[in-house]
Amino acid sequence: MPQQRLLQEGLKSFNLVLFDEAERHPRKVAADALISYAANRYSVPWRYVGQVVEVQDERNGRIRIFAQNKLIAEHNKAAGHREVIFDRKHTEGIRAAGGKPMQLPLPHLVQQALPDVAQRDLSVYEQFLDEAGDSMMVVTERLQEAFEHLGWSRIPDILHQHAEEAAAQNRTYLEFLDGLLQEELSAKHDRFIRMKTRMAHLPYHKTLDQFEFGFQPSVEERRIRDLATLRFVEHQENLIFLGPPGVGKTHLAVALALEAIKRRYTVYFTTAHDLVQTLQQAHLSNTITQKMKALIKPNLLIIDEIGYRKMDETAAHFFFQIIAERYETGSIILTSNKSYGAWGEIFGDSVLATAILDRLLHHSTTINIKGESYRIKEKKKAGFFRPDTENEKTN
Ligand code: ADP
Ligand code: MG
Repeated sequence: MPQQRLLQEGLKSFNLVLFDEAERHPRKVAADALISYAANRYSVPWRYVGQVVEVQDERNGRIRIFAQNKLIAEHNKAAGHREVIFDRKHTEGIRAAGGKPMQLPLPHLVQQALPDVAQRDLSVYEQFLDEAGDSMMVVTERLQEAFEHLGWSRIPDILHQHAEEAAAQNRTYLEFLDGLLQEELSAKHDRFIRMKTRMAHLPYHKTLDQFEFGFQPSVEERRIRDLATLRFVEHQENLIFLGPPGVGKTHLAVALALEAIKRRYTVYFTTAHDLVQTLQQAHLSNTITQKMKALIKPNLLIIDEIGYRKMDETAAHFFFQIIAERYETGSIILTSNKSYGAWGEIFGDSVLATAILDRLLHHSTTINIKGESYRIKEKKKAGFFRPDTENEKTN
């Protein structure tokens, strides 16, 4: 037994076979999308024309071909020599992608040995093929450059797939181009929305469709849907959500912000606390003018959680300035757990509170949410509340 002999001789088995199996042979793909290996030729997808791929001889009668470690073709190994093993899928889409129609091997030749005659030096053909391959490569490279220059990042990913589909479904050149451009435009819109959403600093991502109107009857769905038309943003009006914690004030503000971003309005979200802190820091570092500008500029400014903390005199003064500067120039959505009567306390000065409310409420809608906290509902569902507490409430 060879294994016993290994032990007897104190040798270790050396996994030569595995190593050999994994050996790959680099080959350049000719312009007819074929590579030469062991006296035969095998097809690969035409988009690899001109590129160097690697052939792996599996020793189980299969040939596998890789490009940058990705399997791109697999064939039965040719039994004889000078055979062309060809997969028709590999040349689909070449016309639609602007490639030259190529001479495909005739079906009856596939898997058959060619007549064994050598009249010419085959390198003559190689030269011809290399040239065609190069021109294809030049076009591909030039396209990549053009896409980069134009800032088109989606088309390079989908070009080949679209080309193959266009060929398979007999689409016209115009339809093919239209399909590509529509996808690029939609990707560009998505990128824009993602960037604007990031810049808006929303605390979380919740939409109107995720809001259960059934749970909060004091919020009239029709009214919220009307606000979602964003006429109030167009007219520089304000919107105030009042109500106790957990009733969905921030959720609704965020959902409307997302709608506004979709309509290409600029949006900035901050809590009252962060707003005041940022302004105080800006005041100390002499950047208050720029900071104020940044808060005046967006089409929609959301100031969340007014009234959770009292403001000192400077903070209240800054707050007044923001409201005054945005008055009739930009919309504000404001949320608060305190009704207007208590705003004198928040700002530590009832005259200032009146001045703020005057401007804020002049063109505005107030949605007063009276109801149970959604968080508590969720906790009840999860069993954080004892059943007898719930019974007490429903009784
Ligand atoms: P607050 O009124 O304190 O700002 P939030 O809007 O932050 O409360 O709501 C607290 C949590 O409960 C959020 O995760 C929010 O999405 C959710 N929530 C509140 N009300 C509803 C509702 N009616 N439908 C679905 N989720 C809700
Ligand atoms: Mg909130």
